[in-house]
Amino acid sequence: MSTITTINPATETPIKTYNRLTVSETEEHLEKAGTAFKSWKKTSFTERSNLMTKLAEVFDKRHEEYAQLATQEMGKPIEQARKEIEKCAKICRYYAEHTEALLANEPVKTEASKSYVTFQPIGVILAIMPWNFPFYQVIRFLAPALMAGNTAVLKHASNVQGCAFALENALQEAGFPKAIFSNLNVSSDHVESIIENKHIVAVTLTGSAPAGQSVAAIAGKNLKKSVLELGGSDAYIILDDADLEEATDLATYGRLQNNGQTCIAAKRFIVLDAIYNDFLELFKEKMNAAKMGDPTDEDTYYGPLARVDLRDELHKQVEKTISQGGKLILGGTIPDRTGAYYPATIISNLESGMEAFDEELFGPVASVIKAKDEKHAIELANNSKFGLGSGVITKNNIRGEKVALQLEAGNSFVNKLVVSDPRMPFGGIKTSGYGRELSGYGIREFTNTKSIWID
Ligand code: NDP
Repeated sequence: MSTITTINPATETPIKTYNRLTVSETEEHLEKAGTAFKSWKKTSFTERSNLMTKLAEVFDKRHEEYAQLATQEMGKPIEQARKEIEKCAKICRYYAEHTEALLANEPVKTEASKSYVTFQPIGVILAIMPWNFPFYQVIRFLAPALMAGNTAVLKHASNVQGCAFALENALQEAGFPKAIFSNLNVSSDHVESIIENKHIVAVTLTGSAPAGQSVAAIAGKNLKKSVLELGGSDAYIILDDADLEEATDLATYGRLQNNGQTCIAAKRFIVLDAIYNDFLELFKEKMNAAKMGDPTDEDTYYGPLARVDLRDELHKQVEKTISQGGKLILGGTIPDRTGAYYPATIISNLESGMEAFDEELFGPVASVIKAKDEKHAIELANNSKFGLGSGVITKNNIRGEKVALQLEAGNSFVNKLVVSDPRMPFGGIKTSGYGRELSGYGIREFTNTKSIWID
């Protein structure tokens, strides 16, 4: 029997071994999810809302347990893990409260006696999710998908199977009918046959571009819908009127939160010439002062990366950038200690064609880029194959908004780090993916937007 062992990235010690599902066990789960859909789609919004509220209560009750599990499996600082669990409860409550309104029929004025658009559930959705927010990434998809009347199966990242099973158990504890949601502990080789299965109607993936390309191709071949939330190399433009203390606080937290492993993290800092040197000096001071350490310590600012291979890959990207002419300002060496640690690193003198400019660096490595003026900064920001998040830092909100509107990204925030919020759509353009999560836009991705016409 095939197994997967989860490893604590802070200590490199095994946590637990889980049996992988066989092909026939997986098919059984899919069959059950398909059967469960037939009755779940008929439930009322009130019934679904009551269960979703109970799920929020499970997150409240098991807050510390789940936070410790996330930290143990993927290394995020414990305080940030607690925030992640709080955010899960918030999303559940948001959709418990708002789904009925978000999916209300929309009357359309035509020459018919009655015509409207209605939003109906479509079936079993496959969610392929990453390890970086092991609870939240799943719930961000799952709460709206279930509230819309769909059922779901999860193929979670192999290194966070404890969190995956905790989520499955959380739904059982909340009282959801069995098979409404189940964790499929399978390797990614198994995904093609899952997508091909007759019960699966659509797939959503959050993760890397190669994983997205593979899944989208399989979904396309089977004519099944896909939503992709992939990586980013988010640009934050620091305009010349920015408050440097605030800008560098935001840059430091933005780059180091979740140990630098957030798709919407600030990654490329594009700084106007007039303030470039002052920004770099203060940023270096703050990045250097941020405490790297055991993620279970309350005062740790950032912990290890989620796996040793991811840390080693990141280091290769740093070395490649330097060999291409990037200037190492801080960090850049693998520490001599156990664990997948990588120090806060800053690279400057960057331009298009260099690794740290063109690719996503998923870890505590900041790219600082000098721009001649505002127009040049916008050009540099848009000179990227990615288009997920972006930001503008300025004392002038009107100027910031004008710049934000010119950035090629799914999210552009002024004077704030990009965050996902259930009231706003979330997703990217270009190679950062397609489709949206959250808000009314997200919940409708997995519904049949159906026209009803009564002549
Ligand atoms: P992956 O994209 O490989 O993993 C994300 C999820 O996709 C996991 O569940 C993984 O399963 C699954 N998966 C991987 N390959 C395939 C495939 N061919 N078909 C179907 N499912 C697949 O991320 P990694 O963990 O390897 O991280 C690599 C890079 O991805 C990071 O350095 C970062 O750049 C990016 N990334 C982006 C994230 C985001 O939030 N946008 C989140 C995580 C990573 P399994 O774990 O079993 O391989």
